[in-house]
Amino acid sequence: MISVSLLSAYDYCARKLFLEQVLKLVVIPRDVVVKGSIRHEVHDKISKAEENFVKSIKKEVSYKEVLDGYKKSHSNILKQSIIKNKSKLAELKISLSEFFKNTWPLVLNESKDRAVNVHGFIKKHKVYGDELWKELSPKIETEYYVKSEDLILKGVVDKLEIYENKLVREVVPYELKTGKAPREGVWPGHKLQTGAYVLLLEKNKMFVREAFVKYLDINEARQIMMNPFLEKNVLETRDKVLELFKGKEIPVICDNKNKCASCPLKDKCYDEKFINRRMSLLS
Ligand code: SF4
Repeated sequence: MISVSLLSAYDYCARKLFLEQVLKLVVIPRDVVVKGSIRHEVHDKISKAEENFVKSIKKEVSYKEVLDGYKKSHSNILKQSIIKNKSKLAELKISLSEFFKNTWPLVLNESKDRAVNVHGFIKKHKVYGDELWKELSPKIETEYYVKSEDLILKGVVDKLEIYENKLVREVVPYELKTGKAPREGVWPGHKLQTGAYVLLLEKNKMFVREAFVKYLDINEARQIMMNPFLEKNVLETRDKVLELFKGKEIPVICDNKNKCASCPLKDKCYDEKFINRRMSLLS
């Protein structure tokens, strides 16, 4: 079974994926692992804290009051996670305040999304406390693990809105991305990744209403339209990744020199002797 994130990596540069995954030329920097695990922990705690917070709303409240409640809860969660991991951050010479400053805008977006959702629901349905939590729709889950033996794919949806009804579980997945967004639409790799999640969720008997890539730096969610072409593209890319993992053939150098210019593997990638030597070790 392969991870959905490998599809977008393949789309970016198949050769790079081969160098990383088959020739094992890259060790993920420890700071990336540590930062990623702290962020994962924060999102997990935010999801777990949701029920108690929603149940604590016992009367009509303004949007600002709901948002302030979320902000307080989420900033405490972030601070606690940073303190819990302070020795790891210190080892990497990352100051606690710097990590908070860089991570808080992403967490704040999460607070705002949840506040809009809960406040809108209260306004419409006038329910509070335990009943509010029971009725609340959508409920938001983060880091939602999904897999399918049939599709030979697995992955973690960054954020999932879940609308329960008696007949079917309706969902809206969001893939959250930092970094530059394209002028319009989404980057091809992001489209592939989100399309793969739609297929996985459907395989798991969910009805996908809509799907989005959210570019966090500009706080904009852009919709992905699922269609037979995207489905075919996902499955073909999955097959190419499976083939790549057999390690028989190294993909050619990509035709986008801008990608190569900023690639940390460029020296090794362009060194034919080195590549031939490493390839011969595979056989
Ligand atoms: S240098 Fe270019 S072709 Fe080689 S792995 Fe990097 S991006 Fe791909």
